[in-house]
Amino acid sequence: MATMIIEGDRTKAASGKTYEVRNPATGEVVDEVPAGGPADVDRAAQAAARAFATWSKLPANQRREILHKAAMHMLTKVEEIAQILTKEQGKTLLESRLEARRFGENIAWFADLADKIHGQYVRLPDLSTYGLVVRKPIGVCGAIVPWNFPLTLAANKVAPAIAAGNTVVLKPASTTPLATLACIEALIEGGLPEGVVNVVLGQATGEAIVGHPLIRKIALTGSTPTGKKVMAKAAESLKKVTLELGGSDPCIVLDDADLEGAARAISVGRFFNCGQQCLSTKRLFVQEGVYDALMEKLVARAAKLKPGNGLDKDSRMGPMHTETQRAEVEAQIKDAIDRGAKVVYGGSRPKGAEYEKGWFIEPTILAGVPDGARMWKEEVFGPALPVRKIKDLDEGIRLGNDTQFGLGSSIWTSNMAAAHRAVLELEAGYTWVNALVIAHDELPFGGTKQSGFGKEHGVEAFLQYTEEKSVVYGGI
Ligand code: NAD
Repeated sequence: MATMIIEGDRTKAASGKTYEVRNPATGEVVDEVPAGGPADVDRAAQAAARAFATWSKLPANQRREILHKAAMHMLTKVEEIAQILTKEQGKTLLESRLEARRFGENIAWFADLADKIHGQYVRLPDLSTYGLVVRKPIGVCGAIVPWNFPLTLAANKVAPAIAAGNTVVLKPASTTPLATLACIEALIEGGLPEGVVNVVLGQATGEAIVGHPLIRKIALTGSTPTGKKVMAKAAESLKKVTLELGGSDPCIVLDDADLEGAARAISVGRFFNCGQQCLSTKRLFVQEGVYDALMEKLVARAAKLKPGNGLDKDSRMGPMHTETQRAEVEAQIKDAIDRGAKVVYGGSRPKGAEYEKGWFIEPTILAGVPDGARMWKEEVFGPALPVRKIKDLDEGIRLGNDTQFGLGSSIWTSNMAAAHRAVLELEAGYTWVNALVIAHDELPFGGTKQSGFGKEHGVEAFLQYTEEKSVVYGGI
């Protein structure tokens, strides 16, 4: 049975309760897990507060070295962690390996910033005084993570937090705790001091983290409704919050685009991780002149994405993560079809004995999805893509912005003036121009509108795990 990790202790829930984690491809039990609650969060927060007293005072170059060593050790375990991730999450092994590697690389990337925190000297009017602005770590930080990229999204929070000298109480999604535990175990084996990162498990621990008085900052990745609840609860104790929430990214393809490149980017953008991505091509707007040619290419690519158990080397797309999630996407597809949309590819569950016990669905492309359909208004968190013909860039930008979300966006065109207009006018935290929808460590990532606020990745994310303090020295 898996255990939580609190101050280095491998521990059960205080209540003694457990639950099962199941494989989305087969329904088999992968492991039994403690169902933690407020008492466990309290223990973890106390442990993190004790660890903060020493971790925050270590010379920053020592923190950098410890984190590098721990990350390198974790990276030797990528293969075994990837197997666990595929079993609990459903994604293909190829996707799990990439993700597990990203975890270690992310820790190493932020480790390099540990000793590069700069302050300022400020000259004051009275020359017998002078001012400084110093940056300090915040304290204990809560990290709350969803199930779609359990490792990447945990690292996005844990890595900048601990590099800056904070300590963490980490809560993975209740259906994907196991690979996260394996990563944190590997960091501790590699030399991360006990108590710097504590892992609590179970649905009830999320709210308890947000409400805990010792926790000073919350970083959540999750849905927009969860973000609103977390922000309201965090307001009770005025905690800082970073919210990475839902998205419905538009992609605009103009007549002068490189269609092969666009088709590749759209296919990866929509179908990677079985479409369960925040940054993802979720609404496609194609100019009339290239509509048919692009659709042909997209269908050819979708046809190559064989659904299957992620552990099977021939699988190109794993199952959806839960039955509820599949039902939601199926309902969105049905709503579009009922309103008159045409299925261009997929639209159902794949047939065959190997698919009967898992939450499989075909990659799906829908044309002629009318205004008012759920797919245009809601986030589609699965492998289904609504496509619409547009007359020109104006229409693409207008439709692209016609959403409550503002996470990512992309444009394909060889006209740099058109591309730059889209960059300026699309309401989103990221715009890709003729490029794959990939978030880079070096660039700050975060949404606008109801996709949230605050940044992950980049120096900006690191600084958000520090607080500025002004100091005046007198009597000089
Ligand atoms: P979710 O909102 O249901 O859960 C996310 C996490 O929050 C889980 O660990 C959950 O247990 C916890 N949680 C739920 N209610 C809580 C509460 N009241 N207080 C504290 N914690 C609570 O999301 P999900 O279904 O796991 O993930 C899918 C969603 O995440 C999608 O909307 C997707 O777009 C979004 N997402 C966003 C990004 C991004 O970076 N913007 C990245 C990945 C996923």
